Amino acid sequence: MEAGNFKLKENHVIGQISVPENADVTLLKGLLKESENRFNLLADASPIMIWMTDEHNQCYYFNKSWTDFTGRNVAAEAGTAWLQGVHPDDLKLFNTLEPILDRKEKYTFEYRLLRHDGQYRFIHEIGNPRFLPDGTFAGYIGSCIDVTEARATEVILANQAKELMRSNEELEQFAYVASHDLQEPLRMILSYVQLIQKNIDQGDTKRVNEFIAYVIEGTGRMQALINDLLQFSRVTRKGNPFAQVDLNEVLKIAVTHLTARIQENNAVVNISPMPVIMGDSFQLIRLFQNLIDNAIKFKTISTNPIIDINVKEKEDEYEFSVRDNGIGIEDKFYNRIFVIFQRLHNRKDYEGTGIGLAICKKIVERHGGEIWVESEKDKGSTFYFTIKK
Ligand code: ADP
Repeated sequence: MEAGNFKLKENHVIGQISVPENADVTLLKGLLKESENRFNLLADASPIMIWMTDEHNQCYYFNKSWTDFTGRNVAAEAGTAWLQGVHPDDLKLFNTLEPILDRKEKYTFEYRLLRHDGQYRFIHEIGNPRFLPDGTFAGYIGSCIDVTEARATEVILANQAKELMRSNEELEQFAYVASHDLQEPLRMILSYVQLIQKNIDQGDTKRVNEFIAYVIEGTGRMQALINDLLQFSRVTRKGNPFAQVDLNEVLKIAVTHLTARIQENNAVVNISPMPVIMGDSFQLIRLFQNLIDNAIKFKTISTNPIIDINVKEKEDEYEFSVRDNGIGIEDKFYNRIFVIFQRLHNRKDYEGTGIGLAICKKIVERHGGEIWVESEKDKGSTFYFTIKK
């Protein structure tokens, strides 16, 4: 059989069509031939790949699009030989088709098929059972299209949609907390300025200097918040390209930056040997520095801070941990603390703007990892984060 050349299997197909006694068999054969030719012309002109099986599900027909795609002729594909072109991982999928084929139902199916150039392509296939006029099952006719590009676009679009949703949520959260937190010093500034005005109007300027000091404090706080916001937005906008980074060096620098803090608090920082990873060294210093800084800041009154920094090598990532013996965190706050400006304490007890962990989270995410905390109130906290190898 030639590629694309459709031949009726005379003995079992034509044999099952009931032919009236007095029918002109030559005429009937002529009509069948014409119908066959029409089918061949149509099928071979089609960009869709078409195949047919007999009643035992053995393929005996492939159109030109199919043989052009696989680069093998009908003889080489016939029976079940065409399955040699199916991706080995997808062959088992065909088992799920068997019950459908047994019930002789229509199906749609996807698998990877080897193209003539050695590339596996995603094929979307529709199979339709064929029945003779008397209802006898005659096999399947199938049509297949290459959906590789469409699938790739779908994956890209789905990822973009996910990323867009994530950044939208982040933006909303950001706008909410940022406006909320910036309002607070602004409200304070406004009320003291109004008070100053009222005092001046009444000719009473005794406390004006005191009120001006509050205004200055409020502006300072706003400035700090705005600077932090800028830092936060710079993590993704102004990050350096990734390079090989020796985390032993990174930690040495982070600890050096915190020397005064460590000494003032009699803190001990124990660091295990660290790996070399791909990343942004400036941001990794910041990440460890923020975590160590918090571990010292949130110490209990009675104990000196002891901080252990460890790493566990996993299959495709490293899992780092920064453990302290500080005040701990209740589990209901485990997620909240990573949101920008969210703090569990007021400024009088522990200074800060509540941005440190939000920056840590952004840095870790930029490095393809996750950050989380496990903690016990009054016993200490362990901050974990992963970074892709
Ligand atoms: P800040 O330190 O400026 O408050 P962070 O974003 O670094 O902001 O931390 C957010 C909050 O998470 C802190 O206010 C504190 O309540 C809690 N937190 C962070 N690190 C620790 C820690 N090591 N131990 C206990 N609580 C912590």
